Amino acid sequence: MPSSGLINQVSHKLAVACLCLWFGLMTGCGDTSTEAGSDRLTVVCTTTMIADLAKNLVGDDVQVIGIMKTGEDPHVYDVRPRDAQMIADADVVLMNGLHLESTLEHIIENNAEQAVVVRLAEDDRIATLGSETKEGAPDPHCWFNIEYFKVYTERACDALIAADPDNAEAYKERTVAYLAELDTLQAYVVEQLDTVPQDQRVIVTSHDAFQYFGKRYGVEVLAVIGISTEQQPRPQDIAALEAKVADRGVKALFIETSVSRTLNDIVKKLADHSGAAIGGTLYSDSLGDPDTDAGTYIGMVRHNTDLIVKALSQP
Ligand SMILES: [Zn+2]
Repeated sequence: MPSSGLINQVSHKLAVACLCLWFGLMTGCGDTSTEAGSDRLTVVCTTTMIADLAKNLVGDDVQVIGIMKTGEDPHVYDVRPRDAQMIADADVVLMNGLHLESTLEHIIENNAEQAVVVRLAEDDRIATLGSETKEGAPDPHCWFNIEYFKVYTERACDALIAADPDNAEAYKERTVAYLAELDTLQAYVVEQLDTVPQDQRVIVTSHDAFQYFGKRYGVEVLAVIGISTEQQPRPQDIAALEAKVADRGVKALFIETSVSRTLNDIVKKLADHSGAAIGGTLYSDSLGDPDTDAGTYIGMVRHNTDLIVKALSQP
């Protein structure tokens, strides 16, 4: 009978609750330690952008841990021995997906048994771009389209609510506030780029992280290598790019913080040969230091936008 099933379920829940209460008394209630096994909700994030996003959605009572540190390249992230344990202890794991975290993927699959795991970029609302150099591989850098980062935000909110439904209202409130900040950011990017004449909107970067930005905000992006930094640039690609830079009269080439020196050196050489300027350093796959303007996602996008607009606006 359905009613007896319900009663059984209720009595089972009561028994579990009593057991938890008893166990809580034995181990000390209200344990606020941050160690594994504490009651504090723990959210583990792969990239620095995602960790910043999570921090905007949670209160002080939730612990947000970022696996990657400032300046680390997610494509070739060197897994640390502590990562597996951190993932095993997590209540929520937020990752980009689309193979951005190729070295962490199986560690998460094997260890995140208790956690709600969400691949934020793998969503029907996100139309992925392909790679020119790697057939069939989707471009994972969706966070540079702010509309798509809003999808990340909504999905992160859903994950937090799934893991901690008692605080759903608080997560929803913070999400609404952060989405409004992202709207303001997007209006700023559009307004700034509108000041650059259409035929000057072309940039060169070290690796191909800015296609979503370029497509959404109207900038043509040329890169030394494709969507993953695992690849090595081929001499014929560099020669072709150099010809394009000369042909299009590209005004600015950019280096990036999270890629190898070799790649950035190629950009510098291209600038030397073509007479174009180095427009500065863009943040692509990692935020800047926490105490700098580019230490948040919003700050990073503003930094990149300001730098691109300044470089492209030169007469
Ligand atoms: Zn990248």
